[in-house]
Amino acid sequence: TTFTAPPLEPLLLENVQLARFTKPTPVQKYSIPIVALGRDLMACAQTGSGKTGGFLFPILSQSFINGPSPVPQATSQFSRRKAYPTALVLAPTRELVSQIYDEAKKFTYRSWVHPTVAYGGSDINAQIREIERGCDLLVATPGRLNDLLERGKISLANIKYLVLDEADRMLDMGFEPQIRHIVQECDMPDVENRQTLLFSATFPKDIQMLASDFLKDYIFLSV
Ligand code: AMP
Repeated sequence: TTFTAPPLEPLLLENVQLARFTKPTPVQKYSIPIVALGRDLMACAQTGSGKTGGFLFPILSQSFINGPSPVPQATSQFSRRKAYPTALVLAPTRELVSQIYDEAKKFTYRSWVHPTVAYGGSDINAQIREIERGCDLLVATPGRLNDLLERGKISLANIKYLVLDEADRMLDMGFEPQIRHIVQECDMPDVENRQTLLFSATFPKDIQMLASDFLKDYIFLSV
């Protein structure tokens, strides 16, 4: 098996080949077609399974094809630099968001998609400057993203893809209120075709609750 069923967008496929990914891991093999069909997904997968590619590849493939979505007209000079990402990946730690961001950089090479990373415990103004330079795909920890939302630097009104990665760890770390607030912000404009992908190593009661609250008619994948 290669990355051809369904086919990845040609530039993305080149970047995947540059990274020397020759065949999909099991989670990629199943998640890519599910996401490409437009379905919500609850996936039980461990770190090291290739789950990052499992969500990034179908999101980027479709994004490369769609091109940039129009950004709402600025209502004042102050909102001019607000970013409207179309894809949001939430993960629990600085280490994890950095790893996802590094993969996102690799696979968006030569494309119009500009990934940005945001995590707590480091200079927020430096992250804001990065966001202002372009932010189509945002990889963030929940606490720092809420901070950016409060400062009016990010709008989630254009989010087409929402990924909650390592959701069990995010709940263990007490991020549930922040996550619920973020999902509410994504729901504000009620983008009809928004897709939500939930990844977790385990599937206990609290994760089942998140899945039933956030996902629509989802497919359950366990690898
Ligand atoms: P992940 O579980 O997404 O953190 O991926 C674990 C490691 O496997 C990372 O170093 C990836 O770069 C690598 N990887 C993921 N998918 C593939 C693939 N299809 N072929 C080769 N390496 C991969």
